[in-house]
Amino acid sequence: MSEPTSIPEDLRRRLPAVNTLLVHPSLAEWREEVGERALTRAVRDTLAKWRDRLGDAEMALPDEATLLAEIRESVGRQRQRHARSVFNLTGTVIHTNLGRSPLSESAIKAVVEAARHPVALEYDLEAGRRGDRDRLVEDLLVELTGAEAATVVNNNAAAVLLALTAVGAGREAIISRGEMIEIGGAFRMPDVMTAAGCRLVEVGATNRTHARDFRQALGDESGLIVKAHTSNYHVEGFTASVPEPELAEIAHAHGIPFMIDLGSGALTDFRALGLPCEAQPGEAIAAGADLVTFSGDKLLGGPQAGIVVGRRELIAKLKSHPLKRALRCDKLTLAALEATLRTYRDSAAPERELPTLSLLTRPGTEIAAQAERLLPIVRQALDGIADVEVRSCRSQLGSGSLPVDRLDSAALAMTLPRGRDLARLERAWRRLPRPVIGRVHDGAVLLDLRCLASDSDEQAFVAQLSRLPDAWRAVS
Ligand SMILES: *Cc1c(COP(=O)(O)O)cnc(C)c1O
Repeated sequence: MSEPTSIPEDLRRRLPAVNTLLVHPSLAEWREEVGERALTRAVRDTLAKWRDRLGDAEMALPDEATLLAEIRESVGRQRQRHARSVFNLTGTVIHTNLGRSPLSESAIKAVVEAARHPVALEYDLEAGRRGDRDRLVEDLLVELTGAEAATVVNNNAAAVLLALTAVGAGREAIISRGEMIEIGGAFRMPDVMTAAGCRLVEVGATNRTHARDFRQALGDESGLIVKAHTSNYHVEGFTASVPEPELAEIAHAHGIPFMIDLGSGALTDFRALGLPCEAQPGEAIAAGADLVTFSGDKLLGGPQAGIVVGRRELIAKLKSHPLKRALRCDKLTLAALEATLRTYRDSAAPERELPTLSLLTRPGTEIAAQAERLLPIVRQALDGIADVEVRSCRSQLGSGSLPVDRLDSAALAMTLPRGRDLARLERAWRRLPRPVIGRVHDGAVLLDLRCLASDSDEQAFVAQLSRLPDAWRAVS
């Protein structure tokens, strides 16, 4: 290290002291609103940032107004929870990164009550002693799917892991090569099988698998036959797979169980709702599956959970496996799941009560009318920044459900003069108090309005539009 020949004046020493800024009159109202601690943290953070900047760049000393503005912004940011609500206008209804299904009012009520009070979670009220936490939902699941028994864990990945471990560890799991699925976030069927201690046996070819492929693979080491719903892609053309009842027969003839990972299990008939057909757990059970796994927060429209339904003695194995204890759900999840399942059992029209189903069944014409209604308001908010028009578009179900099916929808499409960056416009929308998440498609930022369904959401969306020009400037 060589000594610097001349020592530049250290501007850092000329930054105001924390206490000087803290008592500044313009921060008085903030102190009252957010408290001494939050304000002090904002002042310290802002000064630390400036000490960094002045340390290495040829930066000028900030004036007091700049510092105060940054402190106010820092306080504002601190007050925003990370888990705050956003507008999902991406066009993907069940969006994994945005928390998948919103809950029904009855599920929300159940969660709040369970959060506030002790509940008989794992307690038999009749006998007055320890009970089984699956009891909260097991009867409902049995009734809704026709299975003999059920258990619930943290998510469907956990359900698959538990089922494979409890039933197939140390043995062979036989699966079609065309179903070696990867779900987003590093859930790969072969890896999960390895983690579960199963030896993977792939049969058939990527596009075609026949009954004889399975029969030939069976031997002394066979533990189970697995079928995975190819939920996030679609193989088209020269394809063949073995129907579920036939797979069940092959497995049973060999004395081993047949398991289906459905991914997204619909508990109601989607065709009757005018939606693309989706496999139902009850159909998988009726087809002879011994274990069926599916998610609670995909098409079911409930909380994050992994549900396993199936034969009594197999479910009993799962329940008594040590992994079950590690993967179990908490009371909030079980309360929400119970309320959601009750809606399926008791309601004549679950699609009206469960937000996921009502968003999926929202008519395209209604969304288009909403787009026309919002067009002039959004145009005005973006005056001089972007051009806005209504565009018809297609929403998707999301989370790997029915990857090729799309629903008619409408979007506000925003385009920019040449040279301006669409990503900047997207960022400006995300900067609003309740961030708006859209997508860039075909040279425009699209806000698909399918999920802006309630009047109160539309009002909240409109109410913050006046802040859009400031947000646009802030992200320059
Ligand atoms: C989504 C999905 C999973 C994972 O479910 P999570 O609830 O996200 O853990 C597993 N298998 C299939 C087929 C899926 O579609």
